[in-house]
Order: sequence, then C-alpha cells, then structure tokens
Amino acid sequence: QAEIAINEADIVVFIVDGKEGLTANDLIIRDILRRSKKKVIVAINKMDAQAAEDNIYEFYELGFDTYIPISSIHNIGFVDLMDTVTNDFNEKEEKQDDRLRFSIIGRPNVGKSSLMNALLNEERVVVSDIAGTTRDSIDTVLTYDKNEYILIDTAGLRKKGKIFESVEKYSLLRSMRAIDRSDVCLLVINAEEGIIEHDKHIAGYALEAGKAIVIVVNKWDTIETDKDATMKKWKTDIKNNFQFMPYAKVCFLSAKTRKRISTLMPLVLESYENATKEIKTNILNDIIMEAFMETPPPSYKGKKLKIYFTHQSGTKPPRFDISVNSKGLIHFSYERYLENKIRQNIDFSGTPIILNFKNKGEE
Ligand code: GDP
Repeated sequence: QAEIAINEADIVVFIVDGKEGLTANDLIIRDILRRSKKKVIVAINKMDAQAAEDNIYEFYELGFDTYIPISSIHNIGFVDLMDTVTNDFNEKEEKQDDRLRFSIIGRPNVGKSSLMNALLNEERVVVSDIAGTTRDSIDTVLTYDKNEYILIDTAGLRKKGKIFESVEKYSLLRSMRAIDRSDVCLLVINAEEGIIEHDKHIAGYALEAGKAIVIVVNKWDTIETDKDATMKKWKTDIKNNFQFMPYAKVCFLSAKTRKRISTLMPLVLESYENATKEIKTNILNDIIMEAFMETPPPSYKGKKLKIYFTHQSGTKPPRFDISVNSKGLIHFSYERYLENKIRQNIDFSGTPIILNFKNKGEE
C-alpha cells in the first residue's frame, strides 16, 4: 500500500520519530524512497521538548534535502511543513485544460483494459496523442467526432501485470486516484458475475467526489438467452443496488466483440454536458418555489422552514445554494424531494447535484 501511495505521489512526507531518533526501519524506508526517486520531505515528529532538538542532526544521515521539525500533538510546524510541500507546486496543466477527462474504473477482471482497447479502436475514435501529465500516469488524448477528450490512465491498465493487480484493496486505491482526476467515470461491471459490494464502493467514492458516472455492463456477449428481458432485469438490479445514484446512465456492451460499443461515448458526453449545465436563477427559483408550494415542509417543534432564494454556485457537479430561515429545519427527505423536483424539470441525468442550504446572510 505504501509503495502504491509513493508511486502516485508527487512529494512524499516521510515522518520519523524525533524522540526515538533514527532507527534501522527508517533506513529501510529511506532506501525505498530513494529508489522511487520522488521528492522527499522528512518531518521529524514529537519535537515538542526542547531537549529533542539535538536529535534533528542525526536524521541528516538519511541524506535527504529537507527536514522539518513538527509536533502533531502540539500542532507545531505544520505551516512550515505545508509551505515546503506546496512550494514547488505549480498549477498543474490539467487545471487549465477544459477537455473532458474520463476514466475506466472497476474491480479486476471486469474488462477495463479490454474496454479501453475497444474504445480506442472504435471507428469514430482517433487516438491523437499519448501524453504523460504526471510522471507515472499515461493519459490518452483521443478525438471523437472532431473533439478531443482525455482518457485518464487508471494506473495498471496500461501497465498490465503490475504488482498487486489482483488485490481488490489496491485496485480501489488506484481507482480513487483516477476518479479524482476525472470528470466522468465509467464504472465497469461484469454481466457474468452480477453486482458485488466492491462495485458499490467504487461508485460511492465517485459520488462523494462529485463525479458524473456511467455504469457499463460489460461482457454482454455472454448473455445468450433473451437479451431484452435480461437487460430489463439488469436495469432493475442496478436501480436497487445503486439506489444512491438513480441518475446514473447505464450502458450494455461487449468489450470483446465490440458489440454496442458505439453506444458508450454518447452517454459519456451527455453526462458531462449535464454536469456542466448552468441554470438561470429565475428558472431555479420558479422550480423551488413551485415545489415548496406543492408540498410545504412539515414544521418542526412549531417552527416552519422558509425558503428565500436559490442560485447555482458551481458546476461539475452542479451546486445550488438555497437560502433559508434555518438550516436545522431541513429534513433529509425534504432535501431529496427538492432534488427530485430539480431533476424532474432539468435533465441532470448522469451527474450528482448538490444542494447547499444556507441561513440567510450566511456566506
Ligand atoms: P481488467 O482487469 O478489468 O482490465 O479486465 P481485462 O480487460 O483484463 O479482462 C479480463 C478478462 O475478461 C479477460 O480474459 C478478457 O478477455 C475478458 N473480457 C473482457 N471483456 C469481455 C467481454 O466483453 N466479453 C467476454 N466474454 N470477455 C471479456
């Protein structure tokens, strides 16, 4: 796990124990870090006692360039540490890049690599470039219908056979990193096996990260009898298992035979379009006020919720600030009701949306 984390990182903070001093284990870790060729900052922890100051020098033996004394318990040294960590960060080029970024995620053997290859070989897709945006990941720039998109490398897809490939825990760790860098996540599940807990974990993480998601039911070629009925059943299964994201679009295909592969990109694009939608304030207020009038919230301890004003404060995912008299009066089910009303009026399929309740006057 540490090795994967090192691999994914730009900078590694190596924490040593300033009270105990340099240990043999520190030297082992030092060797791993050296091999990784990553920038290393040594944080010397437990430096709360003045007496421990002398211990700093012995850590110089580690041979790294930067040492910051800290005390986690007493909250000492963090500003220094964070300044040092972020010092060399220049705004990543991906921040200014407005091309849609998507990734293929899912547990091992569901067919992610196969899907990536099938997609890159699709008739309308031209692979225009392969560029490394970070040192270790290889993202693919592809052209689809004259527009460029970036397929994020989920480390391991291109580097098949890497260590830990079959260990689900690590695949989740890698998926998380890919999800963070994506606008749209293609969650691949296996039609042969059905939905398992791990699929839901990954989906849950994508939701928490606010990412649009397309659920891809792969290996559709293995379904031999009555595909229509099976598809219907799958749709129900997906609705039940992914109740927390009823908005997700679902795609059935075979990466192996490439059947229905052309149905995938349109769903990715639609989901992205919805994630970047901006809704005019007057339209939003009409929707919310109408919903409010239709079903006013129940009062709580004799107090009644009032909604004053709604506006959109962001995209990817769409975020709505709703100013109210008292946030405490919002019940989860009423929030759900309002979200549904927004979705009934505006197509936000494929993307989560966030309702942010604020007390009047609150920033
Ligand atoms: P990954 O670990 O998620 O990248 O999965 P792979 O792409 O390596 O595929 C795992 C196995 O499933 C391989 O043996 C593939 O040939 C097989 N596979 C992938 N996609 C399909 C598909 O659409 N249909 C069938 N029948 N097998 C597939």
